[in-house]
Amino acid sequence: MSGIILIVEDEGKLARILADYLQQAGFEIHCLGDGLAVVPWVQEHHPRLILLDLMLPGKGGLEICKEIRAFSTTPIIMTTARVEEIDRLLGLELGADDYICKPFSPREVVARVKAVLRRNGGAQQTISGITLDETRYQATLQGHKLELTAVEFKLLQFLASNPGRIYGRETLMDHIYSDDRIVADRTIDSHIKKLRKKIAAVEPGQEWIHSVYGVGYKYESE
Ligand code: CA
Repeated sequence: MSGIILIVEDEGKLARILADYLQQAGFEIHCLGDGLAVVPWVQEHHPRLILLDLMLPGKGGLEICKEIRAFSTTPIIMTTARVEEIDRLLGLELGADDYICKPFSPREVVARVKAVLRRNGGAQQTISGITLDETRYQATLQGHKLELTAVEFKLLQFLASNPGRIYGRETLMDHIYSDDRIVADRTIDSHIKKLRKKIAAVEPGQEWIHSVYGVGYKYESE
């Protein structure tokens, strides 16, 4: 899971204002304006929450919401310029977590984003079979709880947020130790080893974290 909030909005000015406010509130953001780009992006990056405009070029918000719900529980807040649309949307049971009517104040959007994240257990998200709950450093794999340390949790979360992508030891270290601590390369290896052992205990015979010789590690589920 990444901490990114995806803003899907084709009005550039509005997208920029939202991005500014959300960044000031401490969120990492990414903006998309073309409806066709949304689902592939979500599949690759697993954002923490999606602000989804209803009327978009390429593919509309309704269709996008339905498609995302087929593979992800990421919270979605739909935005629409027509207040009368909201009742109709509610009736469709799209699986969106909230609806906001334009014009909205960016401050209101930030408040709603925070409220939806709180409701969803802070930042709980399911990706590639793993449920990660950031607030409790808890990971559940195929229904089995993994007892992870904070470092192991962060490693797993980071690797799983980009399945298939190879990360070098240095990148992984930078991610898990935010201070300028000097840590030996082998530290990562030993954390990975423990992490694998814990995963193997609940899912024997299946590799999730793969080492790439001379480069680093990647996460890949079957
Ligand atoms: Ca629009």
